[in-house]
Amino acid sequence: MSMEYKEDDFLLLSGIQHFSFCRRQWALIHIEQQWQENLRTIEGEILHEKAHDNSIKEKRGDLIISRGMAIFSRSLGLTGTCDIVELYKDPKGVNIFGMEGTYKPVPVEYKRGKPKEDDSDVLQLCAQAMCLEEMLLCDIPEAFLFYGETKRRLKVMLNDELRDRVKVIVKEMHELYDRRYTPKVKLSKSCKACSLTDICIPRLCKNLSVESYIKKNLLEVDE
Ligand code: SF4
Repeated sequence: MSMEYKEDDFLLLSGIQHFSFCRRQWALIHIEQQWQENLRTIEGEILHEKAHDNSIKEKRGDLIISRGMAIFSRSLGLTGTCDIVELYKDPKGVNIFGMEGTYKPVPVEYKRGKPKEDDSDVLQLCAQAMCLEEMLLCDIPEAFLFYGETKRRLKVMLNDELRDRVKVIVKEMHELYDRRYTPKVKLSKSCKACSLTDICIPRLCKNLSVESYIKKNLLEVDE
């Protein structure tokens, strides 16, 4: 039988995007909880996620749109919310929380900006779908990312390779969390776009300003 996590050991699903951006950033946020003024965005995201516990449903013909659905997975040990789950009436679908008929669920994650160079959004979306599959006992072969800046929907095929990557990442998140271990600084291009440089880098090099540290080191860093 596959392992199941207890609720107390669930991690926030939103951490997947931090973890795939930089493991240390994830640990600073999710293990050490280094809240700072400049972390409002991240903090807001997580509080928003925790605050959502009732989904709001809207009906458009045969489509029901559920917003802010609370999701979890015992096999992954994750909890979070789906921005949108579109529920399409389908005879081959599944029952949804006592609603009449059967439906095919399709998660849609909204992002303010544009598609990122890395695949953190795709991994997060795949993890959401995996939670829904476990909760609703169904298969979700595809899902969508919607980007506010480009106003486009991007279809994401949830193949085995992507699912395996989610499982590997989540397993590593749990291992680090159990050890309360924050990985060491690993300079990369991500550092230039990281909202935690003020916390992360001065620890490494106390006598140097962040700006000069970045100039001195990061500009020489490749991929
Ligand atoms: S500054 Fe770099 S190493 Fe530190 S948390 Fe950010 S991305 Fe990670």
